[in-house]
Amino acid sequence: MQLAIDQQRLAWELEALGEITDALPPAVTRVVYTAVDLRGREFVKKLCGEAGLELRDDAAGNTFARWAGGEPSLAAVGTGSHVDALPSAGRYDGTVGVLGGLEAIRALQRAGFRPKRSIELLIFTSEEPTRFGIGCLGSRLLAGMLDASAGARLKDRDGITLDEARTAAGFAGSLEEVRLPAGYYSAFVELHIEQGPLLEQRGVPLGIVTAIAAPSGLKIVIEGEGGHAGAVLMRDRRDAFLAAAEISLAVERSVLATGSVDTVGTVGVCEVFPGAVNSIPSRVRMEVDVRDIEESRRDSALTKIYSACEEIGKRRRVDVRSEVVNADPPAQCAPVVVEALVNACNAHGLGYDRMISRAYHDSLFMSRVAPAGMLFIPCRSGVSHRPDEYASPEAIGQGTLVLAEALAHLAS
Ligand SMILES: [Zn+2]
Repeated sequence: MQLAIDQQRLAWELEALGEITDALPPAVTRVVYTAVDLRGREFVKKLCGEAGLELRDDAAGNTFARWAGGEPSLAAVGTGSHVDALPSAGRYDGTVGVLGGLEAIRALQRAGFRPKRSIELLIFTSEEPTRFGIGCLGSRLLAGMLDASAGARLKDRDGITLDEARTAAGFAGSLEEVRLPAGYYSAFVELHIEQGPLLEQRGVPLGIVTAIAAPSGLKIVIEGEGGHAGAVLMRDRRDAFLAAAEISLAVERSVLATGSVDTVGTVGVCEVFPGAVNSIPSRVRMEVDVRDIEESRRDSALTKIYSACEEIGKRRRVDVRSEVVNADPPAQCAPVVVEALVNACNAHGLGYDRMISRAYHDSLFMSRVAPAGMLFIPCRSGVSHRPDEYASPEAIGQGTLVLAEALAHLAS
């Protein structure tokens, strides 16, 4: 099989999709179910139609573009990513996996390859949490990791429910039907920009992902007692911020205690009330993000954080309440997909590193319903979620070539 990627065409298509934006190019803003999001999807769907793929949308707005295999009753092989973009983002996050996936299919068609299993390109709805506050909506629903009725009730900032927004965007039917039947896919592979600097720094063209980290989010509220910053003696204080400061350091300590570089913790939000220089903080609201590729290790860090909260609260005589906002399980990539990617890199003489994905992706949820894996390509300086996000046509072409080879293997 003589596989050739049309790098120029792919670069042009990525650029054209990037022009469909609610921001000033090169900034890309495509929030789910907005007119611009729908135009972006239409652009991709038209190209899929031209490639002879069979199109269908589900009730959430996930799009499936199918290249029917010789034995269409077999479980299909899936690939794809997302085309929604958070405000003022770049042109490559998600889109490389969608348009690259399409070009991989076209390259296989041009090479005269006939898949035994059907190959399906997916465009996931709302990978970005921008509108409904929760990421990977489409893949969560496909994997049954988000209850359909809870999903339907999610609201955006204007009080519009997910159900109202998707119906207005033309996606009808019940969200209950979105969940994929067991064994729908025999494998799923997502091509994506790395969104970090490692591949570029090491001069390695490709990254084969072996595990995807997942965040656990905590909200912590500390109630102490306010007062005059001059009049209340130190020994009499119940300063909520000092407790927050200790808890923040406990987050760092708990995460470091696992002994693994893959456990990371961040206190990204710390709001102090009343927030005046001459007033003792009476209340603090913190948000904490703890991630790992191993759930048990992440949980051990969380347990330490909880007990630190309790100890610090008692000692400082403040009330500490914590609430888990989300705790998605991390995923190990499927050996069958990793192996297909390794063989594809070797077949084309392209170097690769095995790496973990510290950001999470639709593949995290697809891994619950299919053997899943990811392929990373370098992006300039590791920059992502910014208008100056960039991946070279060569890098995208190499990723697409390896994806095509891997899809061929998995669909044979
Ligand atoms: Zn993405």
